[in-house]
Amino acid sequence: MRQIDHFIVGETPAPTRKHSIWNPSTGEVQGEVALGDAALLARAVETAKRVQPGWAATNPQRRARVMFAFKQLVEANMQSLAEMLSSEHGKTVPDARGDVQRGLEVIEYACGIPQIMKGEYTHGAGPGIDVYSMRQPLGIGAGITPFNFPAMIPMWMFGMACAAGNAFILKPSERDPSVPVRLAELFLEAGAPEGLLQVVHGDKEMVDAIIDHPDIAAISFVGSSDIAQYIYARGSANNKRVQAFGGAKNHGIVLPDADLDQVVTDLTGAAFGSAGERCMALPVVVPVGEETAERLKEKLLKSIAGLRIGVSNDPDADYGPVVTPEHKARIEQWITTAEQEGAEIVVDGRGFTLQGHEKGFFVGPTLIDHVTPQMKSYQEEIFGPVLQIVRAADFEEAVRLPSEHQYGNGVAIFTRNGHAAREFAARVNVGMVGINVPIPVPVAYHSFGGWKRSGFGDIDQYGVEGLRFWTKNKKITQRWPDGGGDGSNAFVIPTMG
Ligand code: NAD
Repeated sequence: MRQIDHFIVGETPAPTRKHSIWNPSTGEVQGEVALGDAALLARAVETAKRVQPGWAATNPQRRARVMFAFKQLVEANMQSLAEMLSSEHGKTVPDARGDVQRGLEVIEYACGIPQIMKGEYTHGAGPGIDVYSMRQPLGIGAGITPFNFPAMIPMWMFGMACAAGNAFILKPSERDPSVPVRLAELFLEAGAPEGLLQVVHGDKEMVDAIIDHPDIAAISFVGSSDIAQYIYARGSANNKRVQAFGGAKNHGIVLPDADLDQVVTDLTGAAFGSAGERCMALPVVVPVGEETAERLKEKLLKSIAGLRIGVSNDPDADYGPVVTPEHKARIEQWITTAEQEGAEIVVDGRGFTLQGHEKGFFVGPTLIDHVTPQMKSYQEEIFGPVLQIVRAADFEEAVRLPSEHQYGNGVAIFTRNGHAAREFAARVNVGMVGINVPIPVPVAYHSFGGWKRSGFGDIDQYGVEGLRFWTKNKKITQRWPDGGGDGSNAFVIPTMG
């Protein structure tokens, strides 16, 4: 059985607690990860404190060279990373490559750190006065990441944080910890100083130690909303900078003029891909008008019938198992709840087994119709291969549904009407909008972040926002007097008037 240890400098103590790592396709335990505590974290922080000043003083072009070398190493190791990721998470290997690739795109952006970290300068803001700003790293940053993107989300965080001159401590999900450790190894191989990026494993005990450690300046969290809110509240109370991204329930609005064949292809991938375990999945579809709903449902039924569920390394599988047996049980319970609430289970994925892999954590594709906003199964995140149909009478109702939902991560509208799409994008109360794009995860040089209970804090991930999060802005006003004096009254607040 594989043993996954912390990635810190020096000997790691024998763990007192461990967590099992499943192979979701076979339903067998394939490894164990050590769970750390506050003492282990304290060691990692001491190392980070020692290493960070030298790294921050390294000129940005040299830091960028490490990012370039890391990018090349990740590309060279893409297939093995994807296979490792897929075996612990359960997503298919091509989808796992996408997970790595979307993180790599933030590393590519971070290769431009000398350009994006430049400050601003005003010559002659007053007589003999110049004003300029410089962005400085915070010191030590920490990232606490979810199971569903074990490559992409850590790279969103440490890519930006380290390029900007911070040391970084990553606490990945204990369910699929191998890829984050491998990424840290590759970062070291790329030339990062030893100890700049460390990985500590753990559960709530380790997370609490991170939130309470006085030398950690900032925390980036991605995971479920209750924990996001907890980390945001406690971390902010400890005077840390915190961004905490939570759960989601993204809606896909289908207007009557949409190209339904395209919509169904997009929806099927966005609802069932990665077994629905994506924060930008589309688990709710909102057809506008009864006729649209009926036509859509008929086409969805055909598309769902053609789905192939397989083990994560089956090259022909559309999606694989979910992450743990508890999660499979939770998803099936949500389907039962929807049924009890009066929704119609059109396609039922409960009790699904894959021949030859009966112990795997598979859930069949599920389609639920006549779901209403009053139902608990609509209000909460299910995070499985379950698509709910909520029928809207008109455009206004279609704008209202995602706007009033507790989550506000992503939303998509499918239409040929540019005016309606433009109106929708401007009015909907959700952080990321797709127009005929089912999973609108913005590219690395824009920024990512949901609203309402999908995001606590006020600065997004990656792009310019990521740089803002991982740096503080210093503003300098300088004067080089010529000795003659400028005749101003030193007792009056200076103005440039
Ligand atoms: P999770 O909240 O269970 O775990 C996330 C992290 O928090 C893990 O590192 C975990 O070890 C830690 N954690 C777990 N329980 C804790 C506790 N009680 N106290 C402190 N820390 C704790 O989330 P998950 O199941 O790994 O990931 C799925 C969730 O993440 C979904 O809700 C999904 O929508 C969300 N997600 C959101 C985004 C986004 O950008 N908004 C992206 C990906 C995933």
